[in-house]
Amino acid sequence: ADMDADLVIVGAGLFGLTVAQQAVEHSGARVRIIDVRDHIGGNAYSYMDEETGAEIHKYGAHLFHTSNRKVWEYVNRFTEFTDYTHRVYTTHKGEVYPLPINLGTINQFFHAHYTPQQARELIREQAGELAGTDPGNLNDQGISLIGRPLYEAFIKNYTAKQWQTDPSQLPASIIKRLPVRFNYDNHYFKDTWEGLPKDGYTAWFERMIDDPRIQVSLKTDFFDNSQPWNRDALVGQVPVVYTGPVDRYFDYRLGELKWRTVDFKERRYDEDDHFGCPVMNFSDPDVLYTRAIEFKNFNPERYDRQNHERTVVWEEYSRFAGKGDEPYYPINTGDDRALYTQYRQQAAQQPKVVFGGRLGTYAYYDMHQVINSALDAWGKRIAPLVGRTKD
Ligand code: FAD
Ligand code: UDP
Repeated sequence: ADMDADLVIVGAGLFGLTVAQQAVEHSGARVRIIDVRDHIGGNAYSYMDEETGAEIHKYGAHLFHTSNRKVWEYVNRFTEFTDYTHRVYTTHKGEVYPLPINLGTINQFFHAHYTPQQARELIREQAGELAGTDPGNLNDQGISLIGRPLYEAFIKNYTAKQWQTDPSQLPASIIKRLPVRFNYDNHYFKDTWEGLPKDGYTAWFERMIDDPRIQVSLKTDFFDNSQPWNRDALVGQVPVVYTGPVDRYFDYRLGELKWRTVDFKERRYDEDDHFGCPVMNFSDPDVLYTRAIEFKNFNPERYDRQNHERTVVWEEYSRFAGKGDEPYYPINTGDDRALYTQYRQQAAQQPKVVFGGRLGTYAYYDMHQVINSALDAWGKRIAPLVGRTKD
């Protein structure tokens, strides 16, 4: 292979793509991106389903949202966004409720017609002994936010299915993402901007790296020494941006960081619309999957290009990740945090290697956060290593 690269990026996910784009734009560097998968885009990759005309998000539903103006302007350079706004429903004991928990959910649950103020008072009462504290774990955070009855109906069992970890051992940050509203607003996200890439995720990602100075090698594993772009040949010789699992980089020498993975079960129905919405959660333990995704419903603007006799649905089953599985969500118990801190210290000592992204920094990041951290890392840490200025 042609080894002429000023920067090698391991991982063609959003972190790697953003760094590659910045490197070419600001330094004129020649960049080699490698990825062990057979496509770019990392976990945000999607493909078109021929039969139904649905855009299937191969690693689970991906909705873009941000309140960061710099990130929003950046992504709009590469794609337009649809005006999709995310809304989620949940099935509990044979009834469908709107999420995130809002006045509609509360009134349906209590068969009541509370005003916003009455609902606030009720929840404050039901939060009971935990009100007013700043709970550090998910269980206490959940109860103090919405009271015990709603917590037990909508959060407790769903979280147990998703994380298989006692909620009192999980960080509160996991559900701080979810708003609770005392009005009927059921927008899932509270961000300023949201939408889906108009021509799909893959077209967006291809445009980010559409430059002859960026070369991509797919199906190429950084730890496979039979191919030239490997750790042992490159580290110390050329700047490397590594976005794979941080513990894998160090051959798990201090132990393994824990992750959750998701198995998807595909179902096809002879119907136009099976759920009537893109995402249906199932908050009870008797349904073994956490949620079902009906991809066609993410893109109603593609109505004319979709098949109205068939639809495709993916059920999500969550479990602990073993070594051969895709690591999706960092579990992040106290032990994991301590182990990650040790790995991070070792990472800081690697010559000319920058660790980034969800796997490289063991962080539960959304796309906009990954892009923001990549823009940051480029300016602060990677550009000085690459060191060339554009001519
Ligand atoms: P990744 O996308 O994981 O990319 C890392 C890449 O490195 C992968 O392609 C991998 O193959 C490659 N790699 C790893 N090891 C090696 C190796 N040894 N050699 C070569 N290549 C290697 N974010 C949102 O904003 N909205 C959402 O709705 C949303 N939903 C999500 C749903 C699910 C189920 C999951 C798992 C994530 C979701 N996210 C969402 C988060 C989003 O996927 C991430 O923020 C983003 O994709 C992370 O980008 P990354 O580059 O850090 O990592
Ligand atoms: N959650 C829940 N019930 C729901 C939806 C979410 O308990 O119906 C909790 C759960 O702990 C989950 C967290 O809120 O991990 C974040 O939810 P989100 O939908 O953001 O999860 P993601 O899309 O990241 O899987």
